[in-house]
Amino acid sequence: MFFTSEHEMLQDSVRQFANKELAKGAALRDEKETLEPDLFKKMGELGILGITVPTEFGGAGMDAVAATIVMEELGAVCASTALSYLAHSMLAVHNLCVNGNDAQKKKYLPKLCSGELIGGMGMTEPGAGSDALGMTSKAEKKDNVWILNGTKTYITNGPQGDFFLCYIKTGTDKKDISTFLIEKNFKGFSAGKKISKMGMRGSPTGELIFENCEVPEENLVGKVNDSVHHMVRNLNIERVTIAGISNGIARAAHEYSAKYATERKQFDKPLGSFQMIQKMIADNYAQYVSSRALCFLAARMIDEKKEKEFKIGKMAASAKLVAAQMATEVGLNAIQILGGYGYTKEYPVERYMRDAKLIEIGAGTNEVMRMIIAKDILREFDSSYEW
Ligand SMILES: Cc1cc2nc3c(=O)[nH]c(=O)nc-3n(C[C@H](O)[C@H](O)[C@H](O)COP(=O)(O)OP(=O)(O)OC[C@H]3O[C@@H](n4cnc5c(N)ncnc54)[C@H](O)[C@@H]3O)c2cc1C
Repeated sequence: MFFTSEHEMLQDSVRQFANKELAKGAALRDEKETLEPDLFKKMGELGILGITVPTEFGGAGMDAVAATIVMEELGAVCASTALSYLAHSMLAVHNLCVNGNDAQKKKYLPKLCSGELIGGMGMTEPGAGSDALGMTSKAEKKDNVWILNGTKTYITNGPQGDFFLCYIKTGTDKKDISTFLIEKNFKGFSAGKKISKMGMRGSPTGELIFENCEVPEENLVGKVNDSVHHMVRNLNIERVTIAGISNGIARAAHEYSAKYATERKQFDKPLGSFQMIQKMIADNYAQYVSSRALCFLAARMIDEKKEKEFKIGKMAASAKLVAAQMATEVGLNAIQILGGYGYTKEYPVERYMRDAKLIEIGAGTNEVMRMIIAKDILREFDSSYEW
C-alpha cells in the first residue's frame, strides 16, 4: 500500500488502542446495546476524533487515507465503536470543518476533537431515506432565531450525542435545504427513542425530535437553501471511510475463521485440509484485499483532488458497494467455516456478519450506490439525457 510513515504510525497506534481498549468489551457492547461514553474521551486523547481537522482547531490534520486506516483498525475489533466514531468524525466533524465558518469551527471543533462533545449527523427522516431530498422537517426564521419542527430517525449517536449537524428544509423547492448546528440542550430539542438493531448494536441509534426548537441565527451553516452541495461534498469521504469499516470486519472474520480451520479437526484432519474449506478461505482473502485496494485508491483520489468530482464520486460509491457486499459475504463464509460453533454467540463471527450487513444499508444502500455509478457512466456517453 502507498502509506507514508505517518500513516503507518497511525495504523500501529490505532491497532494497539483497539486491542487494548475495545477488544474485551466488544461482545458486551453488542449484547447490552451500549457504548461507554468515556470511549470518546479516550479516542480524543489518542488524537483521532478530528482526524481530518487542521491542528489549529484541535485536529490531527491528516487525510482521507488516514481516516480510512482508522476505520479499518477500529472496525476489525469493534465495528459498533467504528460506526459511532464515523458518525462523529466524518458525518459531523469533517462536514463542519469543510462547510462551517471560522466562528463555528472555533466554538465547536476543539470540544469535538477532545471528546468533550459527542457528535452526529441528521439527514434521514421517517418518510425520507434513500430519497433524502424528500425530507419534510422545516425551519422558519423568526427575528434572529430559527424555529425547527420535525423528526430525524436512524441517527447514529442520537441517544448519546451532544451536538448534531442537521439538514432541514427552509423553502418550498426540493433542494431548499439548509444545515443547522444543534446542541442537545437547545429549547425544543429532544433525543427520541433508542432503536434496537440486528447488528452494530453497541452503536446507539435513535431519533432527533424538533418541537419549535430554537436555533440561534449563527448556527446556520453557510447560506440558506444552499446545503445540497454540503451533503454531496461530504458523501465521498463518508462512503470511502465507511467502506474501511467493512474491510476491518472482513479482515477479522477472515483471520478468525482461517485460524479456526487449522485447529478444528474432523475425519482426523484439520478443516483447512478440505478443499471446500480452502475455497472459502481463499475467496475471503482475495475479496478482502481487492476491496481494501479499491478503497484506499478511492481515498487517495479524494486526497489528490486531481480528478473531476463525479469521477471521485463514482469511485467512492464503487468502493462502498464492493466493500459492503464483500464483508457480509466474508462474514457468512466465516460462519460456515466454524459450522455450528459459528452460529452461536460463543464465537464472534456471527456478530461480524450482523455488523457487516448494516453497511449495505447505511450511508446509502447498495441499490443507491448502483444508481450513482450507473448514472455517472451513462452521463459520460450521453450528457443530454437526464438519467
Ligand atoms: C444503523 C443505522 C445507522 C444510521 N445512521 C444514520 C445517521 O447517522 N444519519 C442519517 O441521517 N441516517 C442514518 N441512517 C439511515 C440510512 O442512511 C438509511 O437507512 C438509508 O439511507 C436507507 O433509507 P431507508 O432506510 O429509509 O430505506 P428506503 O429508502 O425506504 O429503501 C428501502 C429499500 O428500497 C430500495 N430503494 C429505494 N429507492 C430505490 C430506487 N430508486 N431504486 C431501487 N431501489 C430503491 C433501497 O435500496 C432499499 O433496499 C442509519 C441507518 C441505520 C440502519
